[in-house]
Parts: sequence; structure tokens; C-alpha cells
Amino acid sequence: MTKLIVGVTGGIGSGKSAVTDRFAERGIVVVDADVVARQVVEPGSSALIAIAEHFGENVITEQGTLDRAALRKRVFSSESERIWLEQLTHPLIGSSIAEQLKGASSAYSILSSPLLLETSQRGMVDTVVVVDVPEALQVERAARRDTNSEEQIRRIMAAQMPRQQRLEAADVIIDNSGSLDTLDTAVEDLHQRFLLKSAATG
Ligand code: ADP
Repeated sequence: MTKLIVGVTGGIGSGKSAVTDRFAERGIVVVDADVVARQVVEPGSSALIAIAEHFGENVITEQGTLDRAALRKRVFSSESERIWLEQLTHPLIGSSIAEQLKGASSAYSILSSPLLLETSQRGMVDTVVVVDVPEALQVERAARRDTNSEEQIRRIMAAQMPRQQRLEAADVIIDNSGSLDTLDTAVEDLHQRFLLKSAATG
């Protein structure tokens, strides 16, 4: 019997990590698409070699790792370069995610991904949880967390799915505009719901 797989998504700074950390604390296996995306371009990987050939050595650091900031600049300024990169990496990311979810040992598992709704990852999950905050709070929290400027964060947001469209695709919405304590309560409620659901279907 296939186990329940919950997708968690939201824009940059919405609180995906804050949410998935809380599910992980409850023993739930969380596969993070961002982590997998880094794994597929590790030094020595065929994907990193292809990226270096395509974009040139200036997207590779002296240590031989991917210079993500340099690459980000290239793909955010060119739609065709972004598509090229996605066509290379998305299938690799997808198969690695599928493998990790298959091996998950908890009652249900989570796929956390900023691109859950934009990619074929949508088809890998049974239910979609959207973490939502107003855009101003998103910018404020992401800017405080990252070294990115507010302008860079707004550019990333502009490349992501619009808030309203994301909310319309949600099965469950977590409003993360309150405190972390409030978030913890919301996660606990959902966790109980998913445990019941997984027991009913598993
Ligand atoms: P995402 O993974 O969606 O980009 P994060 O979970 O990293 O977002 O949250 C963005 C930043 O906001 C982090 O520094 C996080 O600690 C903080 N944060 C998240 N939720 C809350 C909250 N409810 N109250 C205060 N700070 C929060």
C-alpha cells in the first residue's frame, strides 16, 4: 500500500522550513527539494559538468562547487537559460525525490518544495499544503534571514507563482502570519489529521 505523501510549498520566506522542521520534530520524514537540488549538482556529478560546459567556468567556485549566486544571476536574467537548466536538473531531482520518499519509514512523509505546483512534483503528492503570509511579511522575513537585498527577494517572488494562484491550488492553507507558537499549534493539528488519514488509507 502506498503511504500518504504530503506536499508543502509556499513562496520564499513564507515559512516552509519553519513548518517542515516542526513535522520533522514529530518524527515525520521530510524530503526537501532544495536539498535534493543541491545534491544533484555536487562536485563530480554529471549535471555539474554539463552546467560548467554550458555556462562557463565562472559559475564554478575555486573549490569546484557550483557558484549558486553566479548561476542564479544568469538564469534570472534569461528565460531560455532558466529553461535549459530546469530541463537538465528537474528530471534528476524528480527521480531522487521519488527514491527518498519510497524509502521513508514514518507514518506519512513530506515533500517540501518551493516549486511543488510549478513542476511534475505536484503529481508525487496526495495533498498540497500551502504556507502563506502576506507579501510584505514574506519580504521582511526573507530579507532578515538572507543576505539578499529586498530587491533580489522581490525578483525571486516575481519568478514564483503568484500568491493567489498558489492559494487556489491548496488543499490546506497554513496561515503563518502569527507567532511561531501559533504555527506550532497549526502543525500539531495537521499532524494529527495526517496520522488519521494515513491510518485510514494505509
Ligand atoms: P522558507 O523556507 O519558506 O523560505 P523559512 O521557514 O526559512 O521560509 O522562514 C523565513 C524566515 O522567517 C526564517 O528566518 C524563519 O525563522 C522566520 N519565520 C518563519 N515563521 C515565522 C513566524 N511565524 N514568526 C517569526 N518568524 C518566522
